[in-house]
Amino acid sequence: MKRFTESVFADLRYWMIGLGVAMGLVFPLLLLLIGVPAGLALRWTTFLGTLLAGVVLGWLNHRLAARVVRRELQVVAGRMREVEEGVREASFNRDWTSCSVEHCAVPVTSDDEIGHTAEAFNALLHEVIHAHKMEAASGELTETLSAKLEIEALCSAAIELVLKQTGATAGCVLVREDTELRVAANLGLSDVSRLPESDHVRRALDTRQMQIVRIPRDIALEGVVTRFKPRQVLVVPICYESQPLGAVIVASDAMLGKDAMWLVRLFQQGMGLALNNAVTHARLQRIAAIDPLTGVLNRRFGMRRLHEEYQQAMRQGAPLGVVMFDIDHFKLVNDTHGHLAGDRVLAETARRAQGALRETDVLLRYGGEEFVIIVPGAGEEALIKVGERVRQAVAATPVNDGGTEIPVTVSVGIGQLQGREEKEESILKRADDALYAAKEGGRNRTVCYGRTAGIQLEAAPTA
Ligand code: GH3
Ligand code: MG
Ligand code: MG
Repeated sequence: MKRFTESVFADLRYWMIGLGVAMGLVFPLLLLLIGVPAGLALRWTTFLGTLLAGVVLGWLNHRLAARVVRRELQVVAGRMREVEEGVREASFNRDWTSCSVEHCAVPVTSDDEIGHTAEAFNALLHEVIHAHKMEAASGELTETLSAKLEIEALCSAAIELVLKQTGATAGCVLVREDTELRVAANLGLSDVSRLPESDHVRRALDTRQMQIVRIPRDIALEGVVTRFKPRQVLVVPICYESQPLGAVIVASDAMLGKDAMWLVRLFQQGMGLALNNAVTHARLQRIAAIDPLTGVLNRRFGMRRLHEEYQQAMRQGAPLGVVMFDIDHFKLVNDTHGHLAGDRVLAETARRAQGALRETDVLLRYGGEEFVIIVPGAGEEALIKVGERVRQAVAATPVNDGGTEIPVTVSVGIGQLQGREEKEESILKRADDALYAAKEGGRNRTVCYGRTAGIQLEAAPTA
């Protein structure tokens, strides 16, 4: 249809009035055809009357069309504008609660082109909201995964987010350390100790493919690791450059939808990079913190650890002690058996000492052949026991170095935190003084820096 203006309704007006004018001009001729006398039909007043009637009818038709159709269109257009504003605001605030499809949809009131337009708009709106939600979810995912560098913190945040985003019920993260898998985070699974040996986990890591286990409702599960009845379990391998670093297990009491699966796959990619960073970070931290000869904490990281334990002891008003020990006549070992043999004696001494400690005690190499054990929460008696255990473990049997038996003993000094306003160096100073006293006292003995009486001899040499 030919367009005269930029408005469809203005065009419609011209077309209708034009049609009225044409009808007005043709009408007197029609009168002639049906037998109206020419004197009456072809009078200029008849022409004028029919012309006027045609124009008025055309104009009324236009008004009617505008009233019926335009109003409907205006309602749809107005609603679309409101929705557009709502979408813009929701996307800016990243809050889609007030702009769901239900809230924002344009009402479909007719089964015609106007109704179809509203339907198409609603479908488009659905896609826009969905795309924005997915974008927001992926943004949150990236943010969470890139915010944590420690393995445990990363895995806890990751599993929490996956469950939140997918609506799954419980899950855990397994991380490969050396060749073993261990549970780094668990949210809602009741017994995860056997999960690392599961066939599904092994298959997921071997094939690098996600394993989707669907569990029919009527199946009773044996050895189930969830407190609820799962309908679907995903075992998602986490890889970096095709190397499996671990797996994420997600259990759901309902089947997960398309969006949830899409998010899980997105998570899988992001988590690969994040976990690789965390594992590398942990490895570097370990390398930086560990003394390569003895495998125990080096002085720098050991002192950092002492500082942390000191602060915690201060906060909680808990006791804190250190046990310092030094190999007796070590120079003689070097001089007699050589520096390499000395190194092996050093490493073996550290190994024996470590074996005599609890998991909470921290052994560090303080200097050449001098070690410190940080013993949080221990009183004087407990510290003396630790010192004696270590001293006896070292002295128990000579170190065998390629057939040569090298007897080794250590002298032990004990220092304690004695007041809340003290500095952490005072503990080390006391232990050092006690160690000096142990050396002075004849070596291979444990001396505790006494609370009131200065240095006391607490344990006599046994060798
Ligand atoms: P004391 O009983 O008084 O402690 O006598 P000592 O001989 O152990 O003490 P001294 O401080 O005179 O000697 C410590 C020796 O430890 C000197 C140094 O060469 C040796 N040493 C320090 N670090 C290492 C190391 O990493 N490997 C070896 N093989 N020897 C080391
Ligand atoms: Mg020494
Ligand atoms: Mg020394």
